Amino acid sequence: MPHYKYLIVGGGMTAEAAVRGIREIDPNGSIGLISQEFDPPYNRPPLSKALWKGKALDSIWRKTDNQGVEFYLGCTAQALDARNKRVVDTQDIGYTFDRLLLATGGSPRRLPFGDDRIIYFRTLADYKWLRELAAPGKKLAVIGGGFIGSEIAAALALNGTQVVMIFPDAGIGSRVFPPELSQFLNTFYRDKGVELLAETTVIGLDVRPEQLALKVRGNQNTGEREIPVDGIVAGLGIQPNVELARMADLQVDNGIVVDEFLRTRHPDIYAAGDVAAFYNPALGKRLRVEHEDNANTMGKFAGRAMAGQPERYTHLPFFYSDLFDLGYEAVGELDARLQTVVDWKEPNHQGVIYYLENQRVRGVLLWNVWKQLDAARQLIAEPGPFQADNLKGRLPAW
Ligand code: NAP
Repeated sequence: MPHYKYLIVGGGMTAEAAVRGIREIDPNGSIGLISQEFDPPYNRPPLSKALWKGKALDSIWRKTDNQGVEFYLGCTAQALDARNKRVVDTQDIGYTFDRLLLATGGSPRRLPFGDDRIIYFRTLADYKWLRELAAPGKKLAVIGGGFIGSEIAAALALNGTQVVMIFPDAGIGSRVFPPELSQFLNTFYRDKGVELLAETTVIGLDVRPEQLALKVRGNQNTGEREIPVDGIVAGLGIQPNVELARMADLQVDNGIVVDEFLRTRHPDIYAAGDVAAFYNPALGKRLRVEHEDNANTMGKFAGRAMAGQPERYTHLPFFYSDLFDLGYEAVGELDARLQTVVDWKEPNHQGVIYYLENQRVRGVLLWNVWKQLDAARQLIAEPGPFQADNLKGRLPAW
């Protein structure tokens, strides 16, 4: 039975960042990494962004080969015995550890039909599959209007594939953006040639010899209809992979609960990345963040902590996206249900949006505005009180 000083379950960006964190402190301690994916760690954001804009596929690798890690790829950890500090995979191979990191990420939410015909876009394998389907003259359906849906629809359209985008909400990104901006995005995407079916749910799929027929139900005005397509890609959100933590009786509450040093309630088991629920002091609440900066930063902190250099994880992660030629960075809670203060330099094209609750800034959206993340973080940490009058112009909108 292999034994590791550091065992990592998960092979994504968090896991790789943790390896680097460990190696900063402990150059020689043995590291084992179990990953369901057959590929070694790679950067996930380019799969829905840069790779569709000409960036080479080779650029995504995280270069783990010189870190002295033993990889178990294509391998699923199915049991965790915390008392005996042992993980067992689906081949019944057991691995023991001194310290364990759960970097298990999340699994895409799925529709109850069309299992092997819908690409629930998350991995490099999904990217390769979608690349095979995408081509000028082909029509693909994109289900979901969140991060994946909006980025993939733009990427496909930029590459000449016909796109029909289908989502239940009124507008693209409507959970995140204020309604006017979300509605602007609908128009913007339509102007770029994307067919948009908002307020529409997918209710079935007919697999025909030459094509797929999606059955959709719109609002009262549009009713039910069938849409013939050559392929389907979906981004319906993810659910954190907490099964191992549950099995080991670790605390789970919308993710694996960790303390400020990223430790679970077992002293030798840590969690980080999409799966981990951590307390953020600036926002004064527990968060679970499914974005790149959190994966990289939290992974590294977890690795360093496991190797004996714990530091409080107080970082407020940022996220970003590219939607055709629009782009943004954001930090904090971007929840469209909060009060928003909009400060445009050019309406819908450049400006800052502040998200407020109880006269405090909870989040900041920097829409085609760059290099303001630290200032935005400072604002979120300030006690206020804030309202439109004293916020507009606070961060330069250019
Ligand atoms: P997401 O951003 O949460 O969006 C999910 C979308 O699916 C929402 O529009 C949601 O609509 C819709 N939806 C939910 N159930 C549906 C159903 N049954 N039929 C049709 N639509 C449905 O999640 P995602 O786009 O799948 O992204 C997955 C993960 O990757 C997220 O964690 C995301 O943060 C991460 N990611 C991040 C980036 C970035 O940081 N730029 C880029 C890509 C992915 P409702 O709102 O109406 O429920």
